[in-house]
Amino acid sequence: MSQPVRQQWVIGNWKLNPSFIDAKKLFTSIQAQLADRTDACQVAIAPPAPYLGLLVEQAEQLAIAAQDVSFVSGFGAFTGEVSAHLLQNMAVNLVIIGHSERRELFGDDVKMLQSKILQARAANLKIIYCVGESLAQRESGQAESVVMQQLDDLKQVLSAEDWAHIIIAYEPIWAIGTGKTASPEDAQHMHATIRQYLTQHTDCAEQLSLLYGGSVKAENAVQLAACKDIDGALVGGASLDATSFMAIINAFSQSND
Ligand code: PEP
Repeated sequence: MSQPVRQQWVIGNWKLNPSFIDAKKLFTSIQAQLADRTDACQVAIAPPAPYLGLLVEQAEQLAIAAQDVSFVSGFGAFTGEVSAHLLQNMAVNLVIIGHSERRELFGDDVKMLQSKILQARAANLKIIYCVGESLAQRESGQAESVVMQQLDDLKQVLSAEDWAHIIIAYEPIWAIGTGKTASPEDAQHMHATIRQYLTQHTDCAEQLSLLYGGSVKAENAVQLAACKDIDGALVGGASLDATSFMAIINAFSQSND
């Protein structure tokens, strides 16, 4: 029986980087290198929110994602907020929800994340939902139960149809921005466990893209891309350098050939 084709994704999370001038240069360089390619891999950039409008107008070969979304709906007197409807109105159709930096530094608890998920789906945005355990949780043997609970939090607010619009990013917190990557074996094991959860709870598990995130770089991308259940990468630091980012895109494009 032939394997179902899953979409491969490489998504650059720029976080609070770089300066506006450097962002325009970086974006131009990545777009130029993607021009005329027919990659098997989809590429997206999640820039700081103030850059979204400009980049979405310039984007040709890649998608633009928001790094976060408000829990409030629509338009109105919500100073400082960026709603899912506003993103939809700007043609930003992808959003990251549940990144560990939002959970840890900005108090995004389960209730808040669920509100954001509901808002994103109401505006028909595709969600990149981040899960992952801390080092203490991994060392005490809780990694899988933590990730399964995070998937349960997501499941509670999704309809059966919503699942087709979800990308899961497994990002062990101890690997984010630290230079430490999960071994391909450990990453594959967690991805297979996530896939098993999705098989039990959705009817589209084999179609859903599961990305790995946590110090992905040119040097480890080929090995990660070779893993059966790793369908792409959410990339922080290495997405700020066009050459490194392109090498990661190449690794995941070739894994799908
Ligand atoms: C991230 O922030 O999602 C991330 C994976 O960062 P880094 O690649 O720098 O570890």
